[in-house]
Amino acid sequence: MELKNKKILVVGLARTGVAVARFLVKQGAQVTITDMKGEADLASWLDKLAGLPVTLELGGHDEERFRTADLIVVSPGVPLDIKPLLAARAAGRMIVSEVELASRFITAPVAAITGTNGKTTTTTLTGEIFKAAGFATFVGGNIGNPLIEAVEPASPETKAVAYERVVVELSSFQLEGIERFRPRVAVLLNITEDHLDRYATFQEYIDAKLRIFMNQTAEDFAVLNVDDPLVAASADRLAARVVPTSQRQELSEGLFLRNGVITFRWEGREEHFTTAGYHLQGVHNIENIMAALATALLMGCDAATCQAAVSAFRGLPHRMELVRTVNGVPWYEDSKATNVGSVEKALASFDNITLIAGGKDKGGSYAPLAELVESRVRHMVLIGEARERIARELGHLTDTHMAASLEEAVQTAAALTERGGIVLFSPACSSFDMFRDYEERAERYKSLVRALEEKPC
Ligand code: ADP
Repeated sequence: MELKNKKILVVGLARTGVAVARFLVKQGAQVTITDMKGEADLASWLDKLAGLPVTLELGGHDEERFRTADLIVVSPGVPLDIKPLLAARAAGRMIVSEVELASRFITAPVAAITGTNGKTTTTTLTGEIFKAAGFATFVGGNIGNPLIEAVEPASPETKAVAYERVVVELSSFQLEGIERFRPRVAVLLNITEDHLDRYATFQEYIDAKLRIFMNQTAEDFAVLNVDDPLVAASADRLAARVVPTSQRQELSEGLFLRNGVITFRWEGREEHFTTAGYHLQGVHNIENIMAALATALLMGCDAATCQAAVSAFRGLPHRMELVRTVNGVPWYEDSKATNVGSVEKALASFDNITLIAGGKDKGGSYAPLAELVESRVRHMVLIGEARERIARELGHLTDTHMAASLEEAVQTAAALTERGGIVLFSPACSSFDMFRDYEERAERYKSLVRALEEKPC
């Protein structure tokens, strides 16, 4: 793709827009950046453009500019069906997403990871393994660093790094914008209902996820968690070599768990990994670990390095994190559990649970949790906008309480839970009804838990 002297329009500023602009300028392009937001809202990003020869069109889009650009690069988060993009498409303009643009310039082998849940954990862990194996590794995508930085580092002072491995986390929205992107290893962890507030149907969301495989050939690998029915169902349609992972069945090829040992079998190679001593807990993390191991082993890492790196990995905050044990009761914080699929895995990891859930409803059903709520949840305390709906769908299955705030929920949970039980804050909802984001929600919960008093025995 030739960029020199081309008129290129970058849609969406923020972190990705800045990184894309920097890359394009370096390639000799004439760059314009446009954003619906005005200067005041974008001030911090504008600072980062200082000294870069770019034209700015902020506070709205100029359709003419879209219709006459040689190339339009769209940041993640910008819907592909906004009016000026439709006009540009009708005028035959070339439109690419940031991931697509980056992928055309990346020369290192790429591992791409998607799924409804577990993306960030798996992407981070895979990156850790590559680094431990001595590869110069870029970890990014939906995780924070735009993929374009795998080509062009964030700081102009930093010398270009010749990455040897690239690990990228991709959301369904990012996958909608790819065209030729072709990862050497593509991982699909699971598919459960999510983002129904942004997709017309569940099928549309599934189709977006499956795009991760669409350009792969028989030289590439598709790592599939076949314990997930929707993931397993996609296997027959793929051109890549399918590497299955399972906690339920022994496999002649792929990765499986048996008696605490993960076995990797592939084309005559066999490796074993003992899970004893792993910091990552829960059935869902075995899923993530197997996907990371498959990716690392297929992309040149040895088994001993993999075992050491997985054992050393402590997990990420806000994903089933133990905050504290009070009066013999462990309190877990799982604020990142913003959909039913992640809560399902959290519930399956414990017994005798006091569950604090609720927040902003995302449009899916809570019914898939019914069996686990009935068998594992002793008390349920509900908060937020979604609490009435959750109570309607699940309240009859366990002892259920309503709380007007997170404070009240923590107090109620403390009063209800006896030694031998655990308290789990795993909301199944997003946080935007009561908090800025899931991190603020997590910090609030943690400070409430830290303030709980030990009772004398
Ligand atoms: P993502 O990046 O896909 O949101 P994270 O690794 O950030 O995934 O985890 C998000 C939430 O999902 C957390 O509550 C975490 O405990 C849970 N989770 C992690 N891995 C899985 C998995 N494989 N299946 C279901 N839930 C998971």
